[in-house]
Amino acid sequence: MFESLQDKLAGAFKTLKGKGRITDVNIASTVKEIRRALMDADVNYKVAKEVTDRVKQEALDRDVKIAVEPGQLFTKIVQEELTQLMGGKAQPVNLQGSPAIVLIAGLQGSGKTTFSGKFASYLKKQGKQVMLVAGDIYRPAAITQLQVLGEQIGVDVYAEPENKNAVDITQNALKEAKSKGKNIIIVDTAGRLAVDEVMMKEVENIKKAINPTEVLFVVDSMTGQDAVNTAKTFNERLDFDGVVLTKLDGDARGGAALSVKAVVDKPIKFMSTGEKMEDLDIFHPDRMANRILG
Ligand code: GDP
Repeated sequence: MFESLQDKLAGAFKTLKGKGRITDVNIASTVKEIRRALMDADVNYKVAKEVTDRVKQEALDRDVKIAVEPGQLFTKIVQEELTQLMGGKAQPVNLQGSPAIVLIAGLQGSGKTTFSGKFASYLKKQGKQVMLVAGDIYRPAAITQLQVLGEQIGVDVYAEPENKNAVDITQNALKEAKSKGKNIIIVDTAGRLAVDEVMMKEVENIKKAINPTEVLFVVDSMTGQDAVNTAKTFNERLDFDGVVLTKLDGDARGGAALSVKAVVDKPIKFMSTGEKMEDLDIFHPDRMANRILG
């Protein structure tokens, strides 16, 4: 991922080579190339324009004060602006409460169940007592998938395969978690292939009924601009606390990672980089910016 963006940015920086200082004139074509590179990576026009306008202004402002090679200064400014675009600092998940309740939402196939397992495993390694809750009542395979994951990582899974009321199930799960002294419950919910009213209403109702400490929205980064649009819709309904970007190991162009924070103003908290339980990382905007710049 990001290879093509990396190449294009490197190409844009080259146009500043040998220039003694950054001026309005020599910066214009570089900025234009950066904007085009971002848009080719699936960053939406508005976000690409905002970030490149800021890069340009910063570059012009700082040139007078700092005497370094302009290409280096410029790369540094782009690195800083990309970091800001993706949220600045890594943002922790709120795990207050006994138990803390983490609600997982997103479209079907985005990687919710896989992430739920990974997150449970990550927390278990920190010594927490975790319970996974199978809230996807429509696909029996989803319940089995969570049970298999639970077994694999040694975490309890609460499921009621016969019960067709997701709100009821999650409330029962919460009672059970309390009686067992669990520290954290992770509620995996049902997704659909596209945003639909029944799914939205259901996950909204679950949210109201269990009052989660943290709502995480899971999105497949391979879906580009669609990922950002889906995030917008879910955020309007759920007012989630953070984003989990999945499938960053694929050949996505990277636009979702770059634009989702700017569009919904919610931090990306985790990134998922494979199918295995250990393929989970806390999202660090500065590290991601460095990776993009190669
Ligand atoms: P859900 O329907 O949202 O619960 O999605 P799943 O967790 O079942 O994931 C859908 C598919 O994507 C499965 O085949 C997962 O193994 C795969 N998957 C999930 N996360 C990742 C990831 O980060 N990278 C890759 N390559 N595959 C993933």
